[in-house]
Amino acid sequence: MTERRRRGLRSSAAALLANERQGLIREELAFIGTCDVCGQVRGKGVPATELADRPHRGVGWTPTNVMINAFGIIGQTPFGALGDVMMVPDHSAEIRIDYEDGGPIEHLVLADIREADGSPWSCCPREFLRLALARLEKLGGLRLLAGFEQEFVYTGVEAQGGNRYWIDAFRRQGSFGEAYVAALRQAGLEPETFLAEFGVRQYEVTCAPALGLAAADQAIFIRELARATAHRFGHRATFSPILDPDGVGNGVHIHVSLRDREGRPVTFDPERPYRLSAVAEQFTAGILHHMPALCAVTAPSTISYIRMTPNRWAPTIANVGVQDRAASLRICPTFAGPGSDPARQFNIEYRPADAAASPYLALGAVVQAGCEGIEKAMRLPSPEEAERSAKPLPRSLEQALELLEATAEAKGWFGETLLDAYLKHKRSEIAVVEKLSPAEQCERYAQLY
Ligand code: GLU
Ligand code: MG
Repeated sequence: MTERRRRGLRSSAAALLANERQGLIREELAFIGTCDVCGQVRGKGVPATELADRPHRGVGWTPTNVMINAFGIIGQTPFGALGDVMMVPDHSAEIRIDYEDGGPIEHLVLADIREADGSPWSCCPREFLRLALARLEKLGGLRLLAGFEQEFVYTGVEAQGGNRYWIDAFRRQGSFGEAYVAALRQAGLEPETFLAEFGVRQYEVTCAPALGLAAADQAIFIRELARATAHRFGHRATFSPILDPDGVGNGVHIHVSLRDREGRPVTFDPERPYRLSAVAEQFTAGILHHMPALCAVTAPSTISYIRMTPNRWAPTIANVGVQDRAASLRICPTFAGPGSDPARQFNIEYRPADAAASPYLALGAVVQAGCEGIEKAMRLPSPEEAERSAKPLPRSLEQALELLEATAEAKGWFGETLLDAYLKHKRSEIAVVEKLSPAEQCERYAQLY
């Protein structure tokens, strides 16, 4: 970055950030956090010099914090005020971004939550995903490659019509996009696309997929760096599922494919229906089978069910479709350009998800359902039957929670303590907004995501 550009960015950021003061003494802080049940990152700051020691000591945490809902309220809690658990930072999930604007370093380390004896806590979101990935690995050494395609609204541009992939809307965000992509790169991610999406002030970002747990860690970094970068410009990036009941939503589309132990793709078979290999068909069929209940985890806000209504390119039925943007599971295209490898490109897109979900819980639940599909050798309906046989998706968060509660297998995915906590947590969230109009609910959620 040239000195002139650096100074320009610095003075505009300093003017915009009320808490920014030049020339004071400072010491770098790092944030140790978890992406909790409501998909928000919570945790504690420590001096960065302390970080190296923290994996051994942990950072104190309270079990009941898992019950803090999106609106900051703790409803009925199974934990009361009792107990202590530890946040243990994982240095393989650490990012440190210097925006070079004189502002604070964005230093975030994601943590596991453990009991004092070091064993995993029953409500640790990362452990939830780890257990699902271990179940998959037991099925012949399968690994999951996943990427989260995320949409958000950037408040730094005027709300004029929709963005609609338009170059003018792309340009109007100024240097936000460049700063954001540079931050993602500094975080060690591989940004792939940044675009002006269809909706009003709506943008979308994708990065290269990652294996296993890292995919969910990266989904969190992608969100937090959009928010952090927007903050430098004095604006917000909001990933709330939908901002206007008459508009389009912000989806989180989870792209998944399977790899074998050696890292070879095992999802693609051009000779079979949907071009899915036998094991990938079973995995997909398991997800499809449980999809209405999975929505309780992947689309877990009340307004997620405003997003998932017709004519918004969001799913409304539990179906699988080839290159269909209204389908819940979209079989993505491959491109046969020179030197391309369709087996490596090929993936399945899970679309009934949004940023109210913790990526660990969303991906973990999807993998658990997929594993069941493999274990029971489930089959997909034929492409001709796919739509006719599709179950509807739930129409509200409460309906989705009831489906999850009625799913016998869910106790195995979550364990009894986490499932009970999850249902109570989400019902406390519904209680906050159930009397509000759809527009008021959108407004409340927009402040939080
Ligand atoms: N915004 C749409 C959603 O809520 C998705 C548009 C697209 O296909 O990218 O999922
Ligand atoms: Mg999109």
